[in-house]
This record gives sequence, structure tokens and C-alpha cells, in this order.
Amino acid sequence: MGLIPYRNEPYLDWSEEANVKAMRASLEDVGSSLDRSYPLVIGGERIEADGEISSVNPANPSQVIGRVAAATEREADMALESATKAFEAWSRTAPEARARVLLRAAAIMRRRKFEMLAWEVYEGGKPWAEADAQFAEAIDFLEYYAREMLRLKDGVEIYAVPGEESRYFYQPMGVGVIIAPWNFPTAILTGMSSAAIVTGNTIIMKPSEFTSVLGAKVMEVFEEAGAPPGVVNFVPGYGSEIGDYLVQDPRTRFISFTGSVQTGLRINELAARKIEDQRWIKRVIAEMGGKDAMVIDDSADIDAAASDIVASAYGYSGQKCSAASRAILHADVYDEVLGKVVEKARALKVGVPESPEVGMGPVISEPQFEKVSSYIATGKEEGERVLGDDPGDPEKGYFVTPTLFEVDPKARVAQEEIFGPVLSVIRASDFDEALRIANDNPYGLTGGVYSKNRDHLELARRELNAGNVYFNRKITGALVGVQPFGGFGMSGTDSKAGGPDYLPLHMLAKTVVERF
Ligand code: NAP
Repeated sequence: MGLIPYRNEPYLDWSEEANVKAMRASLEDVGSSLDRSYPLVIGGERIEADGEISSVNPANPSQVIGRVAAATEREADMALESATKAFEAWSRTAPEARARVLLRAAAIMRRRKFEMLAWEVYEGGKPWAEADAQFAEAIDFLEYYAREMLRLKDGVEIYAVPGEESRYFYQPMGVGVIIAPWNFPTAILTGMSSAAIVTGNTIIMKPSEFTSVLGAKVMEVFEEAGAPPGVVNFVPGYGSEIGDYLVQDPRTRFISFTGSVQTGLRINELAARKIEDQRWIKRVIAEMGGKDAMVIDDSADIDAAASDIVASAYGYSGQKCSAASRAILHADVYDEVLGKVVEKARALKVGVPESPEVGMGPVISEPQFEKVSSYIATGKEEGERVLGDDPGDPEKGYFVTPTLFEVDPKARVAQEEIFGPVLSVIRASDFDEALRIANDNPYGLTGGVYSKNRDHLELARRELNAGNVYFNRKITGALVGVQPFGGFGMSGTDSKAGGPDYLPLHMLAKTVVERF
């Protein structure tokens, strides 16, 4: 198949008036299409359910973005049946044809870019640039996994003994349950789903309850791109109601999950239990939380470090698994870095993300607002709040201002994932101590070091315990195909989305040997 070489989708340039105009027009268009209903899609059929999820704008919770049918066990069962049936033909469909569905989906997403960005602003509370980066990532996943399937379609080279031919190739696994979070509502949902289907599996696609309308939009794209009925089944619903059922069912072959450590460990535990009629050990691909640290040593470029701490800690209101939630500063530069971080964070404009100048929007939901608020109360007891206000009235939007605490490394706010715009700043007497503090945490997703000292960088290259380590730059915004993404420890199964090892996780490797 002739394809241009893979390259990342470029970000929109917001200094171009045409882009700003297009975005404003699309916010207006989408703004007049709110509060519609979205059914489930099972086996290509639109299915209504008894209940619905009412998805709201986190910047204005009285505004309903859409009403999405909420699946119960009955519809989950229908979807598993439909995916099981569709697997027969889809698993035998040529890898090139499967890859074409992804390439087509990427083209459709490019065409619908401004519309999709507007939905992200309304439902996800994303500032424009965050929405764009997130959406570019969705397109990247489609383009990258299509090419990866073409690379792997005939298997990989192995050795043989004289007189024999040995082949090593991959085959599809079966029905996958795809469970996504709300923070990258198109990128992660599209990425996990496209990897699963391009490898010949059929799926149950469950978005987060908080971004179910965006889930419905991703489903529209897969359908328009030509995914046959039953290959992608759109099954929104409450995780607490249908999650266990989908995970435990014997028809489920694998679960691809991104979300919190609590849910991930539950899924892992339930999936490990063999139940009647089950013919395989279920595979679990799980990417979970983080408590990511940036270490700034005494040789660092202080201004650049402070800018990148602010970008990593407060981008999308700190609601990225890769977000910097700990800044560990060498004592000799502590005051200077802290001062600059506070100054730069203060300059962030917090507000309703429909305006282009807003740099930080709300947190996603009322439960998230309550959780972050409660950690802010804890932080005030544990250390000194240098920046941030007490959260306001959630009925006026789930806004939390950039918050910064000076704390001990063992403080709860410095140990537990908060998933909000809350940064813990910690003092270290030297670089070895800074690394020890960074590693003293059950998570291991991203980590960064700012330093001009080669020995320090080499030490951190080996010893910093994180799946994604970045030097002298921000620690968020991993690019598909360029910075494969996944964590150690309680951050997950290190599946490295957007990397060369990702697709084989969705397939069975087969060895066939013929003696001549
Ligand atoms: P979450 O509460 O664990 O939810 C994730 C998904 O799991 C949602 O679709 C949720 O459905 C579903 N779910 C809930 N209970 C379930 C159950 N018993 N069985 C099966 N599924 C169930 O996480 P979140 O708040 O959406 O996302 C934030 C978390 O994701 C953070 O911890 C963040 O670090 C992590 N994350 C990790 C990565 C990574 O690559 N490592 C990337 C992004 C986010 P409902 O929405 O209906 O509850």
C-alpha cells in the first residue's frame, strides 16, 4: 500500500485570523446543536435504552451538552453478542482493508476538526489549544496504527533450522472491551479503539460518562469510515453499572482500559478470575494514574524550567495523567524557581474556555471539583499555600485556580494523585536526594529533570523510575510515534500507546514450522 511517511498532525496556529474565525463559527454552530439525544449503536442498529446520561458543560453545569442512552446489562449483553458474531468476518478481513478504515477515519476527523474542537470545548471544558492538541493526537493514533498494522501484517523475521521453514505471525484475539477516561475523550478513546480493530478484533466502546457525547462523535466517525456493523459497538453507560458485567463475561477476550488506579486494579482482579465457559486467560491492558515529578537542579535554566513546570502542572487544569504534580527543587535555586513559577502561574487566565484567551478552564465534573477542593483543604493543613484561592460555588462552573503548596515529600498532597491544578513544591538538598524523593511514590508514569549537568542527566536516565522521562522540557503532550506513552508501577501495564510494541498487545503471536 503506498502511503506518505507518518508525521504528526500539525497544531492549528491561533495567531491566524482564519482559524480563530472558523473556531468561533463552529462554537456557534455546535452551540445551537446542544441537548440532543444519542442512542447506543449495536451491530449497526440505533438502540434506545431506559436510562440516559445527561452530559453537562463543566464551565456552566446548567447547560446540557447532550443526552446519551445509558446501557444496562441487557444492552451490554447484546453488544457482546454482536461483537462476537462480527469477529468471524472482521478477523478474516485483510489487514490492508482494516488499515483503510483508520486512514479514512483520520481524513474524516481532519475534515470535521473545528466542529470536534467545539464539542471538546463545551463538553470537556478544554481551552482551544488543549482541544486541538488532543484532537491532533486522535488523528495521529489512526495514521500511526494503520501503518503499524501494515508493518506487522506478515509477522516478523525469526530464524529456522536447516530443512525447515519457521514463520512467526500475528492473529486477532477476539472481543475487546474498551473503557476510556474523560480527560482525552477523543484521543484515548480513538487510540485504544483503533488499535483494537485494526488488529482484527471487534469491540465494545465505552466512553466516560462525563464525555459521552464526544464518544458518540467518535462512533459517527468510525461508522462513516466504514467499520462494518458489529465491529465497533457504542455502549455508553455508567461504569459502576455495566463495567463489571462487561469485564467478567466469558465472551470478553481482552480489556483495554485507561483511567484511575482504583478502577484499573478492580478490572485486573475481576478479569483474572476464570468463570464457566471461559476458554482463555483474559488480557488486560491498563494505563492508570500518576504523581509525576519534575526535578530542577542547581545548574538548570531557571526561566525555562519555571515555564515548563507551569505548562506541565496547569495545562488542562492539571487533569492529565502526565501532569507535573510535584516540583522538586534544589535548595540553591529553590526560591528563584518558586518565585518564577508563582509569577507565571498567576498570569494564566482562568475562565470559560469558549474565549480564545482563556488558558485554563474548569475541572471536569462536580465529583472532581469536590475531590480537588478536599485536597486543597488537606494541603492547607499539611503545608503552606503559596498560590491559589478557595474553590468557589460549583453551580457557577467547576473552577479551581492554579494552586501551589510548599510541603514535605510525605504529605498526602505530595503522594496521592489529585488530578487538578494543584502543585506540591518540595525542597531537596542535593540531586541524589531529589531523585530519591521523585522515586518515592507508587506511581511511575512521567518524570522530568531540568539540568545542564551531564552526570545528573545520565543518572536520571537510568534511575528515574518512570515510563516516560523528559529532560529540559515539559513532561506532558507525548506525541504518537515519537514519545510512546505508558507507565511503571501503579501507573499501569507499561503498554506504551503510540509505540512499536502496542499493536501486538492486541494479537496472538503464532509460530508455524514446516519441515521440507
Ligand atoms: P475512572 O473513574 O477510573 O474511569 C475510567 C473509565 O472506567 C470510565 O469510563 C468509567 O466509567 C469506567 N469505570 C468506572 N467503574 C468501572 C468498573 N467497575 N468497571 C469498568 N469500568 C469502570 O477514571 P477517570 O476519572 O475517567 O480518569 C482519570 C484517571 O485516568 C486518572 O487517574 C488519570 O491519571 C488516568 N489516566 C491515565 C492515562 C494513562 O495513559 N496512564 C491517561 C489518561 C488518564 P464512568 O465514567 O461511567 O465512571
